[in-house]
Order: sequence, then C-alpha cells, then structure tokens
Amino acid sequence: MAAALQIVGLEVRIGDKEILRGLDLEVPFGEIHAIMGPNGSGKSTLCHVLSGKTGYEVAGLATLAGADLLSMDVDERAREGLILGFQYPIEVPGVSLRVLMEEALDERGVTGNERITVEAERFDTTRFLERSVNDDLSGGEKKRSEIFQMAVLEPKVALLDEIDSGLDIDAVREVSEAVEAMRSPDIAIVMITHYSRILRYLSPDKIHVMMDGRIITSGGPELAEELETGGYEAIRTRLGIEKRAETVEKRPSDFFTDTPFDV
Ligand code: ADP
Ligand code: MG
Repeated sequence: MAAALQIVGLEVRIGDKEILRGLDLEVPFGEIHAIMGPNGSGKSTLCHVLSGKTGYEVAGLATLAGADLLSMDVDERAREGLILGFQYPIEVPGVSLRVLMEEALDERGVTGNERITVEAERFDTTRFLERSVNDDLSGGEKKRSEIFQMAVLEPKVALLDEIDSGLDIDAVREVSEAVEAMRSPDIAIVMITHYSRILRYLSPDKIHVMMDGRIITSGGPELAEELETGGYEAIRTRLGIEKRAETVEKRPSDFFTDTPFDV
C-alpha cells in the first residue's frame, strides 16, 4: 500500500530565497511522526505548500495515498484527505461547532450526526457542541476541539503545525492525549513543532529533525532524549552541520512561536 504521505526532493523558494531544499519524508498509514525543527527551518512553509497555498515556486514530488498532491487544487487536497490543524484556531461567533461539523460532513456526502456524537465523547468536547466554534475556549480546549474536528472529518493525513505552542504544560499533556486518541490504521499524523517537551507525553513512531529546509536525521525515542538534553545544537554538532547565517533572521510572527513555556 502507498504511504499516506510521501515527499521526495521537495524544493520551495520565494523569489531567490530557498526555503525547502530537498526535503524527503515518508509517513505510512497508522503512524504518528514528529517533525522537530528550530524557528525558520521551514516547518510552516512545508505545511503551507502541502495544503496548496500559492505564492511559492515548488519542485519535487508529494503524494497523498499515492495520488499526486502538488497538482491538486486546494479544495481537492482537503477532499482527498489532507487536513491542516491551525496553530491559532480561529473563533467563529454565531456558528456552533455542531453545525460546522454537520455542514462539513454533509459536503463530504455523510449524513447523520452519529459520528459527531461519538467523536465528541471520545475527545470530551460534547459540551462545546452547541457553543460557537472556539468561542471562549481556553488554549488547550481550542486545540482539543481542532483535533476533534479532524477526527470527525477522518483525514488520511493530519498535519499539526505547532499545535503545542502557547500552551501550559497541562494543556500540552491534554493535547498529546488527544493526538494519541486520533491514532488509527487509516490516518497518518504529522506533528510539527519547535519544542521537544511534547515528546514527553506523545510517543511518535518516528521523529524527524528538520534544519535549513530539509530533514537532516530521523530516529526513535533516543532522538527525543538528545533534543531534550542538548537541543538542536547537540544534533548540529553531532552531524557536523554548520549554522547558516540567514537562519537566525526572524519575522514578527516568529515571536509568537518563541514564547517561552512555563515548564
Ligand atoms: P518555521 O515554521 O520552521 O519557523 P517558516 O516556514 O515559517 O519556518 O520559515 C522558513 C524560512 O522562510 C524563514 O527564514 C522565513 O523567514 C522564510 N519565509 C517564510 N515565509 C516567507 C515569505 N512569504 N517570504 C520570504 N521568506 C519567507
Ligand atoms: Mg512555523
């Protein structure tokens, strides 16, 4: 069976800035993979390009369950089963979570709301169903609601970009448990983050370290330990990778993801 997500030699640039430089990744169905990388390594760009955001020059190959992802338009990618979880889930006043889910299922030709009820129980979001989407939810509850929404839509690939950012440690644990609960033989989950502490609560099948626009090493729990103790510098040093001067530059949005956690 084809991998849920396969990426080969992905190169992405904006103008003369190379952001992804030959990224390879394979995520089989049923697995949870973590992509860990410092700010500016290209993690969000990877999500944007896979989900079909325009404005990038893209070369290389990406397939979703064997189908050519890069040639699909944005709607098609979602319909074919690629879903992106947001770092800052938006609030939708006036639209209840239940109505949003019913509409989304309706669009996919699924009728009846049994799946909504079942998944809401599993993710403990039943009491959010009649409230406006994400309205007055805490950071952790919003992320849990996002994961619930994904589980209802049954994607083939769920891309979670820094779903743990801005959360206190209890919320990180809660979100990790929700991600683990979404595990299924029919879904591949890609958890993308800067911080290694989520790996204390989540046990991905594989951890990939991303730097300067490519995956530089992949492994198991031993990589989480190396990151936790020595950070990205330890991995750079072990692999003999020089820091590229331009990777230290920051855009304003990076300041949000840089917020230190109260561990
Ligand atoms: P990460 O999510 O890992 O922090 P990003 O994908 O946001 O990294 O950014 C990777 C690099 O690409 C950074 O150096 C960033 O400044 C640059 N970059 C991202 N988006 C743009 C853009 N629209 N125009 C120019 N450079 C960009
Ligand atoms: Mg990012």
